[in-house]
Amino acid sequence: MVNFNRPCDESVKLNGVLIRWLAICFADVFNHTLRRPNRLGYDPMNNSLPMNSRLSKNRLKGSLLSLSLLVCALPAHAEWVRRVTDGIMGTRITVELWGEDRDKAEHAIDAVLDEMRHIDESMSTYKPTSEVSQVNDRAALGPMPISKELFDLLTTAKEYSVITDGAFDITYASVGYMYDFRKRVRPDEAQIAKALPAVNYEHVLLDPTKQTVQFSQKGVRIDLGGIAKGYAVDRGIDVLKSLGFTRAYVSAGGDSRIIGDRFGRPWMVGIRDPTKGEGQVITRIPLVNAAISTSGDYERFFEENGVRYHHIIDPHTGHSASKVRSATIIGPYATRTDGLSKTAFVLGPEKAMEIYNRIDDIDAIIVKLDGTVIHSKGMQPGKAAAAADAPAP
Ligand code: ADP
Ligand code: MG
Repeated sequence: MVNFNRPCDESVKLNGVLIRWLAICFADVFNHTLRRPNRLGYDPMNNSLPMNSRLSKNRLKGSLLSLSLLVCALPAHAEWVRRVTDGIMGTRITVELWGEDRDKAEHAIDAVLDEMRHIDESMSTYKPTSEVSQVNDRAALGPMPISKELFDLLTTAKEYSVITDGAFDITYASVGYMYDFRKRVRPDEAQIAKALPAVNYEHVLLDPTKQTVQFSQKGVRIDLGGIAKGYAVDRGIDVLKSLGFTRAYVSAGGDSRIIGDRFGRPWMVGIRDPTKGEGQVITRIPLVNAAISTSGDYERFFEENGVRYHHIIDPHTGHSASKVRSATIIGPYATRTDGLSKTAFVLGPEKAMEIYNRIDDIDAIIVKLDGTVIHSKGMQPGKAAAAADAPAP
């Protein structure tokens, strides 16, 4: 996904300061000239300000100095503040918000990133000490108490497995752990066949009264890579809301959420054209108060003998799920849009679109294998998505 909201916020900010400075400068010069035309001999009908002859250099220097001091003394002003951070959850995090005060805005962004680091620490399977890694080590041995946060997300993940006819399934990892897309490593057919029986979300037993998780058989592994980034984005937005921010954009890789608008304008989010290079888009979607997630076969992959092995796995076969090139879901929460964006790869465009059309509060855009684009019922090309229709607060 490409965020098009990188408008020259830096220059807007700088321009704001510059314009303010110039305005003050002008006002001062104005005081020294227009207000005293006779003393300075300024001719108001003449557009040029003949400063050298009519305003002494020292005087001008003094004016400029006092003007600069004035600028420094001005109270903090509202502005868009944006930060891009790499390395949390193995992806790029972008936070942009409208802040009345620069320091408060920067602290709020720190708080969002802290929250995301916490989620990464607890849910990454790349970290052997994470809670999810411990679950993978021990949950086949018996019921294991886990944090409420993880319990709730596992419950949500199971709900998405049911909604998507098993296309979304965090136990894909029982096979998926044998792939390493960076190192071009994949399991052979025998390894897949041996591990495949452990892939089934029904193997994950959750007890809400005891807040425990148990795997019903050995060999089951879970991985929240298909939902944790969306969840982290939602948590980031919660953090900003709790601090009083009402206009913001938070994204983690392909998962984003927006609150508020850009002062009468929507945020514009571009969807990458999977058939072309980075930066090429198939469309731009105006969004207000909405989340958007895109899954693509171009994200993490390698090719061997003309076959593309990529990071979305079909839970029924253990192979890469390659029935579409990309799927974008728009909805109210990023946990939801993230959890649903893998479905089209596994079920194919038509079956997935049937499911997407049954869910009231989401819209979908799928790029099929031949490059054609299909939309969910509520979304016609050229119109904003249903979820984006909400009025700005
Ligand atoms: P991103 O990680 O960039 O947000 P996606 O939202 O498309 O990309 O999620 C892809 C990730 O989902 C994979 O890297 C893997 O961790 C996980 N995953 C792969 N296949 C499945 C599946 N069938 N069900 C649930 N999660 C999956
Ligand atoms: Mg995602």
